Amino acid sequence: MARILVVGCGFAGAVYARTLAEHGFDVHCIDQRPHIAGNAYDYVDENGVRVHKYGPHLFHTNNEKVFRWMTRFGAFVDYKHKVACRIEGGKLVPFPINRDTISQFFDAPLSDEASLEAFMARQRRDIAEPANAAEMLESKVGTTLTDTFFRRYTKKMWDMDLEDIHASVVQRVSVRFDRQDLYFPNDAIQVLPRDGYTALFGNILDHDRIRIELGVAFDKRMEKDYVFCFNSMAIDEYYDHAYGDLPYRSIRFHTEHRNTSDCDHWPVVNYTDMSPFTRETRWHNLPGHHVTPGPKVTVTVEEPCDYRDNNLERYYPVRTNDNKYGPLYERYAERAAADGGRLKFIGRCGTYQYLDMHQVINQSLSGVQKWLQTQKAA
Ligand code: UDP
Repeated sequence: MARILVVGCGFAGAVYARTLAEHGFDVHCIDQRPHIAGNAYDYVDENGVRVHKYGPHLFHTNNEKVFRWMTRFGAFVDYKHKVACRIEGGKLVPFPINRDTISQFFDAPLSDEASLEAFMARQRRDIAEPANAAEMLESKVGTTLTDTFFRRYTKKMWDMDLEDIHASVVQRVSVRFDRQDLYFPNDAIQVLPRDGYTALFGNILDHDRIRIELGVAFDKRMEKDYVFCFNSMAIDEYYDHAYGDLPYRSIRFHTEHRNTSDCDHWPVVNYTDMSPFTRETRWHNLPGHHVTPGPKVTVTVEEPCDYRDNNLERYYPVRTNDNKYGPLYERYAERAAADGGRLKFIGRCGTYQYLDMHQVINQSLSGVQKWLQTQKAA
């Protein structure tokens, strides 16, 4: 049967590989890293704690098709993510902003909706048509809350002001005036793989027709041995940056060991200060992550940076308010489309989109079906 090359063993590559194998194709998966699971890779460390090597991966979706597909490959445990923000003085308040956040931040007893509404009416800026993320937030919660909870974090995360980032980036985070304190309040399905993501990927990729090679970098000369290549590498890198660089933010992860007895229950704490760090994850507070409890736990602190300052580790595609990288990506995508029909770019880096796991799975499930249709038609 026809041989297919899949570049990258993250969610996009794994969905393509598994589906193609199930349709009788022989799939060769390569990844330049020494492990499967892409940025979802996790492992149990010396403290007996499960750590996600590339930052917290919390699965949430409303897409039952995606969830049904995932549950074929492992067991899941329910987990509804909650986050705290550390404000000046060290106090932790719930985040995203809700009534309790506002009440605790201003130290004001806003016990009912009417008193909150009157208070917020004095905070808000009256902006009929917000032109950017700053105005959008200020029209909802005012300047003080915007600056405290969004301006500094966004500057650290993206090295951009709120005026310059695309509003969709901060709109990932809800703002509410009730007491709802979930990080993903609108998603019906919120789970973690019971045995970790790496085990889940092991099962997805466990198929007679899938061969995996790790620690192998993609080389264009490989393509000639395959009828088709699904490639999750950065599209601009593939074309040697011919039209210019598509920028990415990256994260440097700093590991700390703390006394188990010194820790509170929060799994993630965001920082609102001007240090270079954005957030810390206390892994043992996630279900199934304190695998072998001991005296110490592991905490990962994130320090965002340009991907060129972190070994070309591309994590977050950059979306500006003027969308200046959109047309640049389109030029690469058009070139790929014109490239003889034996190549398709997939996933976050291949499509240059800030996608969550469920969106990558969904995009890949539809993408592979579409491709299979073209094969039937041919
Ligand atoms: N954000 C912020 N303050 C926070 C958390 C998020 O300003 O405490 C902004 C920031 O620009 C961030 C974006 O909202 O990049 C999206 O946040 P999310 O938590 O979804 O980011 P991820 O978990 O994907 O890193």
